[in-house]
Amino acid sequence: MKLLLTVLLAGSAASARAAAQFRVVATVPDLADITRRVGGGLVKVDCLARGTEDIHQVVMRPSFVTRLNKADAVVYLGLSVEHAFLPGLLDVARNPRLRQDPDTLGCAGPGCIDCSEGVSALEKPATLSRAEGEIHPQGNPHYNLDPGEGARMARVIAAGLSRLDPEHAADYRKGLQDYLAELEPEVARLRKLAAPLRGLKAVSFHKDTAYLGRFTGLDFIDTLELKPGVAPTPAHLEDLVKEMRSQGVKLIVREQQYNPKVCEWLAEKTGARVAVIGTMAGALPDTDTFLKLGARNIQALLQAAAPARLTGT
Ligand SMILES: [Zn+2]
Repeated sequence: MKLLLTVLLAGSAASARAAAQFRVVATVPDLADITRRVGGGLVKVDCLARGTEDIHQVVMRPSFVTRLNKADAVVYLGLSVEHAFLPGLLDVARNPRLRQDPDTLGCAGPGCIDCSEGVSALEKPATLSRAEGEIHPQGNPHYNLDPGEGARMARVIAAGLSRLDPEHAADYRKGLQDYLAELEPEVARLRKLAAPLRGLKAVSFHKDTAYLGRFTGLDFIDTLELKPGVAPTPAHLEDLVKEMRSQGVKLIVREQQYNPKVCEWLAEKTGARVAVIGTMAGALPDTDTFLKLGARNIQALLQAAAPARLTGT
């Protein structure tokens, strides 16, 4: 009888635990991946943006509102990078845990886990002018392109989950340790692998390579876009051709969501090669995790940069 009771109690505890999974909405697949790794079976993670989307133009779907309305927490990159969808969704989701700050339109409730916490933001504008890079007002927000930021992001997520669900703090700490044990050697391996890129000059389509440049040592001198979020103009592209020729730039980095034709045109004009990278996990085949995307991007850069490195140009 005692045994039966124990079994019954264990069963009901397990189902209560399953039902009480902590509900997290992540804005991008990278954060969904890290949250799942840290939270394990304790969390149910939904993701909003698809990896193939442009984060500055994520299309809002009605299901996003329902998910945010029921969520215990939202995990996001911050630095206003989710400006196209998160403020609008928070406004209509009316979830007191994910309250919106009326001034900044940012997330201000207790369930907000802002993964930019503690980041040293690069390219902070000296003046807040709408005319200058209007979509990067708090500095460059694309830090998830730097594999070296993963550990900090995971720590912010673990701290956030522990704060909101203190009963399982020890589990989140263990999840974090297990993830870091896998992440840190892989990041060290990627850093070594990227060594031949150091000092090479490159251009990218969008201004999202500041942190990737810091990790790899690539020197990104300009972008195809006139300004962040402003499409390339013929005059700017002609200038870019001259600039790349005079500086011997042999590497063009195209984020997969941007126009391949204009990159091919530029490559033909300058003799440079194009590396296609992803800006979010899932952007390219077999890059469904933060680490896989980081590795794939480094490989793509090395492959496209190889001739320039070999000939010393
Ligand atoms: Zn951007």
